[in-house]
Amino acid sequence: MNKRLLLVEDEEHLAFTLEFNLQEEGYAVDVASSLGQARALMRTPYDLIVLDVMLPDGNGVAFCASLRAQGDHTPILMLTAKGTSDDIVTGLDAGADDYMTKPFALQELLGRIAAMLRRRHWDLDSELAPSTSKENLFVFGDFVVDFDAHEVRQDDRVLDVTELELRLLRFFIDNQNKAIARQTLLSEVWHVSGANNTRTVDNFLVRLRRLFEQDPARPAHFLTVRGIGYRFVPNPEQH
Ligand code: CA
Repeated sequence: MNKRLLLVEDEEHLAFTLEFNLQEEGYAVDVASSLGQARALMRTPYDLIVLDVMLPDGNGVAFCASLRAQGDHTPILMLTAKGTSDDIVTGLDAGADDYMTKPFALQELLGRIAAMLRRRHWDLDSELAPSTSKENLFVFGDFVVDFDAHEVRQDDRVLDVTELELRLLRFFIDNQNKAIARQTLLSEVWHVSGANNTRTVDNFLVRLRRLFEQDPARPAHFLTVRGIGYRFVPNPEQH
């Protein structure tokens, strides 16, 4: 069955172009030009939402936050008008899974969407597969990362993490204590190759440090490797 996408975008020309190209890719696409329309359409669920930030009746970031607060975890790709990292971090804090800064290359947008949907598909498959609980539970510091439950726990508290953050964690855990290049993270975690938008990676690291580091300015687990990228160290005292 075709994947169903909701495109929330009020710029008519852009909405038309995106709708056309997404349909060419085989997706079933509905377009909303306001948050009100989006809410009405979302009475039936979508596989993914492409969400503009500046909309006539409100802000996409707030809309995203309210969906997550209601327990709706539909993957969201946010379209930000400005490239300021503040906007992007705010969007990701609100629970967006990824973002693109306007203007963007159409092929890159299509690649991101395909990657997000692929990941979603794996998740659904893995829910049906027999539980391999040991591999899917990882403990470091005060944290338990539970890939089966799609959550991270600290004591009795469940932390708010997005699918993309979990995917990034999984990659770091599978490659713990190794220096990993930003480009490698982009291709392996985001499934974007040949892109030079490594700031995406840096913004996600800011977010992981805020979640997992006692002092995000002086990280113990998610270390910067100068000139390369990052290294995840689950047990700092052994290094
Ligand atoms: Ca807009």
